[in-house]
Amino acid sequence: RAKTDGRGIFRVYSPEMGSKMRRYHYLLEEMRLALGSNNFSLSFQPIVHVDDCSIDYFECLVRWHHPVEGTITPTEFIPIAEESNLILELGDWILFEACRQMSAWYNAGMTKVRISVNISGVQLKHRKLYDWVIETIEKAGLPPKALMLEITESCFIEASRETTESLQKLREKGITIAIDDFGTGFSSLCTLAELPVDVIKIDKLFIDQANDNPKYNKILNSISELGKDLNLKVVAEGVECAEQFELVRKMGIQCVQGYLVSKPETSNNVGTKVLRTNLNHIAATGTNIWLP
Ligand code: C2E
Ligand code: MG
Ligand code: MG
Ligand code: MG
Repeated sequence: RAKTDGRGIFRVYSPEMGSKMRRYHYLLEEMRLALGSNNFSLSFQPIVHVDDCSIDYFECLVRWHHPVEGTITPTEFIPIAEESNLILELGDWILFEACRQMSAWYNAGMTKVRISVNISGVQLKHRKLYDWVIETIEKAGLPPKALMLEITESCFIEASRETTESLQKLREKGITIAIDDFGTGFSSLCTLAELPVDVIKIDKLFIDQANDNPKYNKILNSISELGKDLNLKVVAEGVECAEQFELVRKMGIQCVQGYLVSKPETSNNVGTKVLRTNLNHIAATGTNIWLP
């Protein structure tokens, strides 16, 4: 139903909109409380090399355990945190906590893997990127080479010159930069030549479609070739079955992330024997002992 409000502003109103707004404000308030009461945690998902299934890095993914609602997914609360700028406070906690965890693993001998942290566009805009990241890793005692930042393709396109320069300076320090969800942000391909990046993560969409749809298959292959030509490491996101693994392996994609290898896990589980056993098993047989 459409109507004008008192000031003559034309509004389209639906009851559904009211409930969306209520949910928005409810979750925002609850997130503020959660920040103060340890209701956020981090989970970690391994990204492995296709050739030997060894771990290249862990992506750090935030989790919210609500005392009443149970687990709330980041696809619901991250956009609200971004819209309200609460992502700044939450993102400070995530980056430090991720670096602190990786620093502990690093000191325990895991010196070959990195930790990767998702950075939202709001953080790129409002944090002094270079100083913020360097101060955080120093406080956590983490060497720069053990950190990677994931920035979605659409945020890269909107990034200011200042942000791009900060990213370049961070790379010079040894931090790895990845374009996340590649293929969904409509960047012109020539911007790839200009961006300060080391890794392309191809969006799950292409992996989902490639076995059934020849056009997606071709695009996936082209992105992978382009990545190789530009000396970028290519990661396939969301690999769930052996068929998809085989497809990306044949295309020469170097790394995969997905439920076939492992779901995101708690810090306690991820470094355990269970995971190592599973990875060895996949390397040897191509099958996942965690799958039914
Ligand atoms: P993303 O950065 O692209 O992260 C990958 C998402 O794909 C994760 O979802 C992961 O659990 C999921 N995934 C990985 N492998 C598979 C698979 O084989 N099948 C399926 N169906 N899904 C798979 P998650 O944890 O729900 O996060 C969703 C999005 O929320 C992330 O997408 C990212 O954009 C955002 N997000 C999560 N954690 C953070 C964070 O700490 N900071 C920020 N700024 N954003 C975050
Ligand atoms: Mg990511
Ligand atoms: Mg992604
Ligand atoms: Mg994604």
